[in-house]
Parts: sequence; C-alpha cells; structure tokens
Amino acid sequence: MVLETRSPEETFCVGMRLGQEAKAGQVFTLTGDLGVGKTVFTQGLAKGLGIEEAVNSPTFTIVQIYEGGRLPFYHFDVYRIGDIEEMDEVGFEDYVMGEGVSLIEWANLIEEILPEKRTEILIEKDLEKGFDYRRITIHEVG
Ligand code: ADP
Ligand code: MG
Repeated sequence: MVLETRSPEETFCVGMRLGQEAKAGQVFTLTGDLGVGKTVFTQGLAKGLGIEEAVNSPTFTIVQIYEGGRLPFYHFDVYRIGDIEEMDEVGFEDYVMGEGVSLIEWANLIEEILPEKRTEILIEKDLEKGFDYRRITIHEVG
C-alpha cells in the first residue's frame, strides 16, 4: 500500500491509524533518510495505541518502553548502533517476541536480526513534489 502525505500532521495520522489497529506482538520496521518523518510517524502510532506520554527518539538508549497504552510499546531507534551485539544486550529478541507492539527506526541497519514477520514502512521524500511531500509504503512481510 502506498500513501502520500503533505504535512507532518498527515504522517502522524497515518501512524495513528496503524496504532489503532495494531495487534499484540506486531513489529513495525521503519526505513527512510534522516529527517524524513520516522519519528513523526512513530508519535502518531503511539497516540493510536493510546499512549499520552511524549514520544521522542531515544537518543542515548536504543529502546524506550511505554506502558501507558492499550498494549506495551517498544520504540527502538538503532541509528547509533555500533555493533549488532548491542541489540542482544538490550534484549531485542525478547521485545520483538513479546506481546507488546515493537517499532524499529532505521531497521535497515539491523536487517539480519529482524523477525521474519513484520510490517515494513518506508518513508521517502520527492522534492519535485514539494518540501513537505512524503511517500509512505506499507508492506506486510512474512
Ligand atoms: P526522522 O525520525 O525520520 O529523522 P523526524 O520525524 O524527526 O525524522 O523529522 C521529520 C521532519 O520533517 C519534521 O521536522 C517534520 O516537521 C518535517 N516534515 C515535513 N513534512 C512532513 C511530512 N509530510 N511528514 C512527516 N514529516 C514532515
Ligand atoms: Mg527519528
């Protein structure tokens, strides 16, 4: 499925809809360049799960856990990962196998350890269509 947005609010809403429909154990992977809107999308998804707490990119930790919603939410941002082993250390496997909803920003950096079954989200700009234009491709894998 391909969606197009023209503002951060619209991207937030796409995330929110997916968050409202998310099922226990579902894993979302997010790929796209810096500043494309991965965190905006994630904030929407958290909202859709009923999380009221502010969601930001976990700068100094790989994973941030939010318990206040309909399901636990595990937000990973692996942008600064040095070595894939760091994912073991934070218990990545247990989170993605768990009953909560997991979302991984920069999932392409840890491709080799992603669960087979996942919802892949790709966000892209197209400057010919304007600075705020984003194309969001959603793809079920596995
Ligand atoms: P990332 O997490 O991918 O690095 P962020 O979500 O932190 O990116 O930032 C996206 C930036 O792009 C924000 O400043 C946001 O306001 C801006 N923006 C402009 N248009 C859009 C859009 N259509 N969707 C999402 N973000 C947008
Ligand atoms: Mg981000």
